[in-house]
Amino acid sequence: MTHEELYAKACRVIPGGVDSPVRAFNAVGGTPIFVASGEGAYLTLADGRRVLDCCCSWGAMILGHADPGIVEAVSRAAARGTTFGIATPGEAELAERIVARIPFVDKVRLVNSGTEAVMTAIRLARGVTGRDLIIKCEGCYHGHSDGLLVSAGSGAMTAGDGTQPASAGIPAPIAEETLVVPYNDAEAVAAALAAHPGRVAAVILEPVAGNMGCVPPKPGYLQAVQEAARAAGALFICDEVINAWRFGLGLYSAAAGLEPDIVTMGKVIGGGFPLAAVGARADVMDALAPTGRVYQAGTLSGNPVAVAAAIETLDRLAADPPYARLAAMAERIERGVNASAERHGVPLRVQRHATIFTPFATDALPVLDLADSKRCDATRYARFFHGMLDRGVYLEPSQFEVNFVSAAHTDADIDRFLQAAEDPLASLS
Ligand code: PMP
Repeated sequence: MTHEELYAKACRVIPGGVDSPVRAFNAVGGTPIFVASGEGAYLTLADGRRVLDCCCSWGAMILGHADPGIVEAVSRAAARGTTFGIATPGEAELAERIVARIPFVDKVRLVNSGTEAVMTAIRLARGVTGRDLIIKCEGCYHGHSDGLLVSAGSGAMTAGDGTQPASAGIPAPIAEETLVVPYNDAEAVAAALAAHPGRVAAVILEPVAGNMGCVPPKPGYLQAVQEAARAAGALFICDEVINAWRFGLGLYSAAAGLEPDIVTMGKVIGGGFPLAAVGARADVMDALAPTGRVYQAGTLSGNPVAVAAAIETLDRLAADPPYARLAAMAERIERGVNASAERHGVPLRVQRHATIFTPFATDALPVLDLADSKRCDATRYARFFHGMLDRGVYLEPSQFEVNFVSAAHTDADIDRFLQAAEDPLASLS
C-alpha cells in the first residue's frame, strides 16, 4: 500500500490517522509516512523506500533500531513472561544503575512514559510542599497532563491554536495553577515567585530545552532558577526526559553541577520501550505511596521486558560511551548545513547542543526562547523537510523539535545527510 492508502485507512479508525499528533505532518504538510521496519540508523518505509532516520523515535533509540543486543535481551525477557503485576528483581537492578549516576538521587520510581514521570513529579512537589502553583517555561513540553499543557511546546505548538491552555478539555482552575515564564529568563522566575509568596510548589523546566527546537540554557540561567526556587521554598524540577543519558552517562543537571529536588527521565533510559522514571532524595521519594501519602501506580510499571531493554541500553552506553562521536557527527551537520546555507544565501541555520540539533529557518541565531523560535519561517522549514525526505533523510516534521543521531549513525551517513541537504538549500532562498 502507498502512504496515502495507509493514511486513509488509518484515518478511518484513528483520529488524524496517528496515535500521537507529532507524527502527523501538521507543521510541514503532506501525508505522514508509515514505517515498515528499522535497522540501525535507517528506516524502511511502508512503500519500500529507505531513509536515514534523525528522529530516532524522538531520541529513544540511541543504539539505533533493532539493535541485536536489545532484541536478544527483550526476547529472553519476554520468553520468561512479559508482566506479572508483581515485583521483579530487574527493577532494582535498573534503579541501582540510574541512582549510581546521579549524586542527588537516592531512589527512583519506574513508570511507563515521560508524561507519567512528570505528572508524578508535580504531584510529589505539591504533596511535599503543601502548595499548589507550578511555574513552567513557555515552549517547554512536559507531557500531556492537564496542568502542563499550558504554553507547551512540541506537538502542542502545532496542534492547538497557540492560545492558553494548548488543549481543549483543561478546566480553567487547573490551567490557572500553572504560571508561565519565558525560558532563559531567571528574573521572570524570581518575579513569578515573588508575586505568589508561599504558594509555588515547584519550578519545572527542561535544562536543555528540546520542544521549541534545540534551545540550550544561557550560562548561569539554570543555577539562578535553582537559587530562586530554593529561596522561595519551592522545589526545582529538571525534566530530563530528553536530556538524560543523551549528552553523557546520567543527567545534564548533574554534569552542570545543579542539584534539582526532583528529576524526570525517559526516552534513552527506556531502550525503546515504554519506560521512564522519576527520581529524588530519599525523603522526597518516600512521600510516594506506599511509604507516603502521594499516590502513584501502574499495572505495567517496571515490566520485565522494558526493564531488560533499559538495563541493556545503560550497560552498553556505560561500556562504550558514544557521546563524543555523537556530538562530532551532530557538529558536522551543524557546520556543513550552516556553511552551505550561507553560501546559498538561505536563512536556515542549525542550532546544536552537544548531540542534538534543530535546523531553524532563520539566519539570526541564537534562538533563546519560544518567541525567537516562533519567529523562524515555518514554510521554509517545511520545504527543507520535504526536500530532505525526498532525498532519503527523515528530519523531525517541525522545527519545534530536536533531531538526534544514534550510535548506529556513521560518518558516511553524515556525508549522505550533507549531500542530501545541498539541493534543498540551493532552492530555498
Ligand atoms: N518531557 C519532555 C521534556 C519531553 O520531551 C517529553 C516527550 N517528548 C515528555 C516529557 C513526555 O514524554 P512521553 O511522550 O513519553 O509521555
